[in-house]
Amino acid sequence: MTDPAWPAVPEGVCTLPRAITVDLAILGAGIHGAALARELTLRGVSCALVDRGEVGGGTSQWSSQLLHGGIRYLLTGDIQQMREGLAERATWFHIAPHRCRWEAFWMPHRSWPEGLSHRIGIGLYDHWGSERPGWPAALHLGGVPASVFQGDPRAAGGPFRGATAYADLLTWDRDLTRDLAASSEALHLDFHEVETFEDAAGALHAALLRDRRDGIPRRLEARRWVFALGPWTDGAMGAWFGETRPRLRRSAGIHLWFDPVPGCDRPWAIRRPKGRILFVIPRDGLLQVGTTEREVEEGWVPILEAEREELFQALESNLPGLPWRQWPLRAEELGVRPLVAASGRTTHLSREAVLEPHPRFRNLTLVLGGKLTTARALMDRLATTLTGAPCPASRTEPLRLWDGQPAKIR
Ligand SMILES: Cc1cc2nc3c(=O)[nH]c(=O)nc-3n(C[C@H](O)[C@H](O)[C@H](O)COP(=O)(O)OP(=O)(O)OC[C@H]3O[C@@H](n4cnc5c(N)ncnc54)[C@H](O)[C@@H]3O)c2cc1C
Repeated sequence: MTDPAWPAVPEGVCTLPRAITVDLAILGAGIHGAALARELTLRGVSCALVDRGEVGGGTSQWSSQLLHGGIRYLLTGDIQQMREGLAERATWFHIAPHRCRWEAFWMPHRSWPEGLSHRIGIGLYDHWGSERPGWPAALHLGGVPASVFQGDPRAAGGPFRGATAYADLLTWDRDLTRDLAASSEALHLDFHEVETFEDAAGALHAALLRDRRDGIPRRLEARRWVFALGPWTDGAMGAWFGETRPRLRRSAGIHLWFDPVPGCDRPWAIRRPKGRILFVIPRDGLLQVGTTEREVEEGWVPILEAEREELFQALESNLPGLPWRQWPLRAEELGVRPLVAASGRTTHLSREAVLEPHPRFRNLTLVLGGKLTTARALMDRLATTLTGAPCPASRTEPLRLWDGQPAKIR
């Protein structure tokens, strides 16, 4: 079976030499690897960014594309994690305004007691997340007037009586990842496969790579190593070092994309059982719907018919006024979220992100879990730990664009 997680190898050659030495080698060019490359460049440390595919070609292109505090953490009580995300939203807006768009999300309620609890929770969320640079004055938060709510076709014939609006930031995940990579001086070794490692005395010294485009071998030497392989971590650690202890749980989430629906102007976040959220988001001239999650074994898995069906049923029961099944599906995608295993020798920075010093190689750190929202902050912390150099500019230095063009505000 063709594995679409690894895009077809493109034409072209890598002009880098066959022997490369850097201070730090990063394996995995998702949002974490790319953010770390930027942090190292800001600190004057040389690095290489290696990926089996292309930059931003893994989970970091299949997310719900929200830079968020995590409204669902109000339900799980993970307030620390929520406040960290809310603070990071403002930082992203400062460094990448061209990849960010504020939105007023409507959370609909079925009854007035539910509406009241939403008002209180959302009031806290927006109070803690009150740092919203560039917030558009036209977007209103709090209670949605009944006439405005009734004017949205999603309200027709459904179980909802009204809605409360809260603030969050939309992004473009793959573009953001690529801009981070472009904001570094890292040597880019995309489409490179690791064949073996050289190690001695409890440290990694070099990786023997092969360029998947033309088969050319390269030797990459580094003093320190960071693996940010997202949901592929367990598979890679098994293949490279024979490690069998699982570090991650993998949870798949899907998105379906429909044509735009007139009148559906604001994103909706609908509460579902077990703390799940059904998102219905108008963006990029389409309507994106998505939900999480199904536990899976691999970093890449196909969408199951049952999963697609479950999402359609959720749409039909919550938003019955719209003929979801009659509309053509413009696109569908599945991403696998790396969640940290409950056990193991890990140093917890937060519930979802862990930096694990490797037990066998003293110069190797693994990045486990995490999300787009907190990737910059986490990699800032890691770079400070590895280099001993804090870097306040990480929070303010604007990103460069991947294509080299000047940034434009969308
Ligand atoms: C459905 C879904 C919705 C989400 N929504 C949000 C959201 O709205 N907001 C948010 O903040 N977070 C969200 N997330 C979480 C977020 O997308 C991920 O946690 C994040 O993108 C992970 O980034 P990463 O860099 O760790 O991994 P990845 O982006 O997967 O990067 C890992 C890289 O490693 C490479 N790689 C793998 N194996 C090898 C190998 N052997 N050699 C070399 N390279 C290799 C891959 O090609 C890939 O590029 C969502 C996740 C999912 C699945």
